[in-house]
Amino acid sequence: MTLQRFEHLIDGRFSEGTETFESVDPATGEPWALMPAATAEETAEAVEAAHRALHAPEWAGLTAGARGKLLWKLADLLAEKAPDLARLETRDTGKIIRETGAQAGYTAEYYRYFAGLADKVEGAHFLVDKPDMEAYARREPIGVVAAVVPWNSQLFLTAVKLGPALAAGCTVVVKASEDGPAPLLAFARLIEAAGFPKGVVNVVTGFGPACGATLTSHPLVSRVAFTGGPATARQVVRNTAENLAMTTLELGGKSPVLVFDDADVASAANAVVAGIFAASGQSCVAGSRLLVQRGLKAELLDALKAKAEAVRVGDPQDAATEMGPLATRRQLEHVERVVARSQEQGARLVTGGGRIEGRGGFYYQPTILDCDDPGAACVQEELFGPVLSVLAFDDEAEAVRLANGTGYGLASGVFTRDLARGHRLIRALRAGVVWVNTYRAISPIVPFGGYGLSGLGREGGLQSVQDYTRTKSVWIRTSDDPIPDPFVMR
Ligand code: NAD
Repeated sequence: MTLQRFEHLIDGRFSEGTETFESVDPATGEPWALMPAATAEETAEAVEAAHRALHAPEWAGLTAGARGKLLWKLADLLAEKAPDLARLETRDTGKIIRETGAQAGYTAEYYRYFAGLADKVEGAHFLVDKPDMEAYARREPIGVVAAVVPWNSQLFLTAVKLGPALAAGCTVVVKASEDGPAPLLAFARLIEAAGFPKGVVNVVTGFGPACGATLTSHPLVSRVAFTGGPATARQVVRNTAENLAMTTLELGGKSPVLVFDDADVASAANAVVAGIFAASGQSCVAGSRLLVQRGLKAELLDALKAKAEAVRVGDPQDAATEMGPLATRRQLEHVERVVARSQEQGARLVTGGGRIEGRGGFYYQPTILDCDDPGAACVQEELFGPVLSVLAFDDEAEAVRLANGTGYGLASGVFTRDLARGHRLIRALRAGVVWVNTYRAISPIVPFGGYGLSGLGREGGLQSVQDYTRTKSVWIRTSDDPIPDPFVMR
């Protein structure tokens, strides 16, 4: 089979690069495309191009409103090409077409939101304690941004970095993941079509040491926006010890869904299933821990088991499919290992627990594990797979203790009809997002990010564009009198 070839974008030029690697279709386990593996030199070229573009009049001379219009154009192009990009994402990552299609379309709304914010960045004027002085603060683009994304939801995770960075007037090098980079490399064509000057956005892909580390440690990079796992995040933090770039980290999670015995059980069951089996559990906000009040446990588990066994697992390009394969063989083996270890630690299989044989590809069954031990591997570790770990609690205090009982703190869900209890839990849960009687709702308007090992900083919302600027404080002396004694500060 001839492999489809993809190109990276550096300084306005598309090229196959000097080194390549094969990308594997997770639905078959076979290679289907050849991707450029950016070398350290090519990555540095991309950063240098972004640095030149930062100061070039074609970009630096644009008004904020003009930048917003370019972003709006990009959004229109993305909306138009969403079905094509979705098919590519499905092919390269195994994420089902229903999800990639909906997500690519909604990602255009993110660019529209950031387009609208471009001319709403405000500085400040200070009422200083000196009668003959004016002082104000300008907000300026922070500089060259390194945007590093993981393989799940690459178009979306890029939008929440690229959108605010461009709105603020920065230039960007996006590093697509080495797993499933096709949609992002294809998206790079839209950057060109939207009319961004050359070098303003560069899109590369490749491996951690050559590409990722070169990018995040480069002296010309001022801002790193990273999404990925905590282990890589630590390397990124070490990399930024070189350039002291301001860094945001969006990391993993082990998000709990708390279901109390007064909850609407049918709704809670649907939300739990969507929370863990959507994207085959490969979502940072996957609700991978179900904490259920003991009296409700048997009923809810029965409902969940029936739903898990009815999930239509299959070809991710088929619109009827509800769950596809995992994205990589590595991921499949990781899930198998953690499930096996958890069973050795006493976790009991309610349903699933193995590969789906006979399909080729990296398919794993929708799986539910009944756990007594909050220390079990499947309760503590992020699996990034379709595995739900269930623990029972007796009262609210125990529910909170269990919910906050991992190092992560990305998202959480609470199902209860008791309003006062809902509010108490919102306060008590150590998580960047609390969904009450719902799960997995997102919007560009609402900030997103984690506590603890789930990350640093927030993406989305009004503040996000400010986070790609820095202030310059300006002092202006308004007196015409000669400057007095130079050895006294005023
Ligand atoms: P990963 O950490 O392995 O890789 C992320 C990116 O970092 C990739 O592009 C990779 O090439 C790059 N990288 C690797 N080594 C590097 C280095 N030394 N320096 C710089 N970059 C380097 O993550 P993954 O396995 O691809 O993705 C899964 C993880 O991402 C999960 O933990 C998941 O929870 C997390 N995630 C978080 C969010 C969020 O918004 N919080 C969203 C999606 C995924």
